[in-house]
Amino acid sequence: MNVPAELIVEARTDTTRAAVAVRDGRIVAVAADAAGVDALHGTWCGDSTSVLPQHGVLAPLFIDTHNHLALASRNVLGVPMHDVRTIDEILDRIRERAAHTPAGSWVITAADWHEMQLQERRFPTAVELDEAAPDHLVLVQRGGHNAVLNSAALAAAGVTATSGDVADGYVARADDGTPTGLLQDGALTAMQSMLPEASQEDLINGIEATSRTYRAAGVGVVRDPAVSVEEWGALQRARSENRLHVRAFSMIFSPAPLIAAAGSMDDYLDGLEAKGIHPDDGDDLLRLWGIKLVVDGGVEAAALREPYADRPDFTGTLLMTPDGLTDALRACVTRGRPVGTHACGDAGVDAFLDAVQRNVDRGIQHEHGSIVVEHGALMDADQIARAIALDVHITAQEALRDGLIAPFVEAWGQERAATMFPWRELLDAGASVSAGTDHPISPLDPIAGVLGMTTRRTRLGILGAEHACTRDEALELYTRAGAELLRHDLTGTITVGAPADFSVYPVDLHHAPDEALAGAHPTLSVLAGDVLHHQKVS
Ligand SMILES: [Zn+2]
Repeated sequence: MNVPAELIVEARTDTTRAAVAVRDGRIVAVAADAAGVDALHGTWCGDSTSVLPQHGVLAPLFIDTHNHLALASRNVLGVPMHDVRTIDEILDRIRERAAHTPAGSWVITAADWHEMQLQERRFPTAVELDEAAPDHLVLVQRGGHNAVLNSAALAAAGVTATSGDVADGYVARADDGTPTGLLQDGALTAMQSMLPEASQEDLINGIEATSRTYRAAGVGVVRDPAVSVEEWGALQRARSENRLHVRAFSMIFSPAPLIAAAGSMDDYLDGLEAKGIHPDDGDDLLRLWGIKLVVDGGVEAAALREPYADRPDFTGTLLMTPDGLTDALRACVTRGRPVGTHACGDAGVDAFLDAVQRNVDRGIQHEHGSIVVEHGALMDADQIARAIALDVHITAQEALRDGLIAPFVEAWGQERAATMFPWRELLDAGASVSAGTDHPISPLDPIAGVLGMTTRRTRLGILGAEHACTRDEALELYTRAGAELLRHDLTGTITVGAPADFSVYPVDLHHAPDEALAGAHPTLSVLAGDVLHHQKVS
């Protein structure tokens, strides 16, 4: 006689019945038809089993292999920006936040917005921010590479009419040299070092709220490419207090300036070890995946083989030297730390593949799945073939293309934007590839991601339809392929023995027509046996 299941979820529609039985966070039985469901009840249902009948169809929870959970958790704390439509709206929200914030302290916005969503299609200026919050330091964040400061914050960060230019960064200035507020990349470093650290409790509250939102969107597992040492601590506490509602695989964010400050990559990794951050730390819900390097920028600064469409004299910026990148990868591989490298443009991908090749040529062999290209937005057939030959995994994000399509078309031109994330070519070549979103830089909804991958529809129309994959392939990239990268015992499937990570959708994700699939959300999700019921999101 079996020990009864703790939980049985039964999903039915007018024509289908299916069920899953769960014990100790794992799937112990699966049934896919009426007779099977009856038999499953007979075998697994006991007095203490909770039975949840649901209208709908079972689906594995999505695995998002490039998702900034930690950044999204901080965004919850900032002035909300994702739905602003005008500069005035931004200023009103900053004014409102300043009214509840002690004078002289920082007012900081969320980063999940883009100036192209504004009627004005531009950033606010320092002068405008001064009017909204004359007695505060104001930081308007936008993505990871851009920010606007008010005059007080510029002065505090030492950015003045006479301060010099910064290597690897950009300070927007008026004709007379006065900074107008916008800073990019390296120019942000001085300001970032002055920001107040959010309290652990704030961070944990953010993690709790954000991970619940993820579950409601059908996402059960994230690989987070930019976690600071402090955030790792907050994640560990959130996990131990049962306030982390997804499985998170964290990567310690290790941009070139941090490595340089440590002396070398080996010194930098020694520093992490001294802080108690070891390879593969954690458990089934929260695990350290590895290290994140950054070799180029995003839409405005990715390293491109051909010049930018809107800046004919500019081909982007490489943020690591060939030797620096080669050595950083070498140190990670030889010390058992998986490593993901942000390489977005085609020249960034070249620089990355060259560095991997140099190590392989020197006999430094990495394990399968331990070297990953983050984004690889522009990869031609030769680069895909090289990635396969070098056993490099690629995590690609259709949502990033859709969310930022207007700026991508402006900066890279329509032709290049159409070739971003060539799913068809990646799959046909047999690349090791998985799907992610880059949330909160771009929208979270995995269903929208799947539809983008299969239709190549963007907010500017269909771009690059020939690079689309099929629905089944897109779902596979978003589940099983992610599990294969993250390993441990994840499978991305609803099978006996697998972790109990699944949801019930009102429609069949594999077969519903596009119109019925769009906007679909799960009504219930189960992660490691933990059940959350979700309101219908309108
Ligand atoms: Zn990212």
